[in-house]
Amino acid sequence: MIQDISPSHLNNHYDPAKSADDNSIILFFSGKKRLLGRLDNGTQEISFPRYKDVRNIEKEKLTYIFTIDSEDFFLMITDSENTDFLDASMQSSYEFRDFRDFRSSYYYPKTYVYAAFTAYQLAEWYIVTKFCGKCGAKNEHSKTERAMICPKCGNIIYPRINPAVIIGVIDKEAGKLLLTRYKVGFGHNALVAGFTEIGETLEETVSREVMEEVGLNVTNIRYYKSQPWGIASDILVGFFCEVTGNREITMDNNELKYASWLSPEEIELQPLEYSLTNEMMKVFKEGDLR
Ligand SMILES: [Zn+2]
Repeated sequence: MIQDISPSHLNNHYDPAKSADDNSIILFFSGKKRLLGRLDNGTQEISFPRYKDVRNIEKEKLTYIFTIDSEDFFLMITDSENTDFLDASMQSSYEFRDFRDFRSSYYYPKTYVYAAFTAYQLAEWYIVTKFCGKCGAKNEHSKTERAMICPKCGNIIYPRINPAVIIGVIDKEAGKLLLTRYKVGFGHNALVAGFTEIGETLEETVSREVMEEVGLNVTNIRYYKSQPWGIASDILVGFFCEVTGNREITMDNNELKYASWLSPEEIELQPLEYSLTNEMMKVFKEGDLR
């Protein structure tokens, strides 16, 4: 999965006093969800500018976000996609691109793919928390925790993390898994999924989403694994469960264009192994689900 970077390690301890050094990586995000970097389609390598590659940017303007192994990552949100601040030798090869491009293939190092995803979530959050939603004053960075604080009314805003469930519904008797395809967006096979709503537990989200999307009742709901998914500020929580009662699918045509019971040999996996959904389909397909 995208976060599986072992033996590398993400250190997300909040440290607002940390200052960039020459080798610090700077992730420049434009307000248009685009990230500055270089993708080499020959070597499949990703590179991002380091502090030594940029000119006329004061260290105080950079926001320290996290460290992976010994590399510190800083964030800089820019209004324009002008790259004049880059060393002249890099201006032709580095460009602002849709940040999803950085996971459109297997680029290396994988830690940078994960860094781009996680940084995107923070960048989006910093962009929408510039001002206090209560009184409209300009927020400031907290000195003690990853939060924005309103100096006028004291309102505290933490990074938004949306819980959502991914559900592997199994027909134990037939040995089949329920696969779906979303009506819009991602075109490959997926599982039933949805956001947790106010006032419900994760298990209740599972039951409700399965009923809403495919009209089935489920039982024996058990946790599998979780996954941070920065593209939607999600924490995805994977569950397997078994259908009970009627097996006949009543598909929600507003959300799905396809829903079907498939045997392991019929399951076609996603082209990349980044998602929790893909891993859940894979463990069922390969008989590794315990
Ligand atoms: Zn305020």
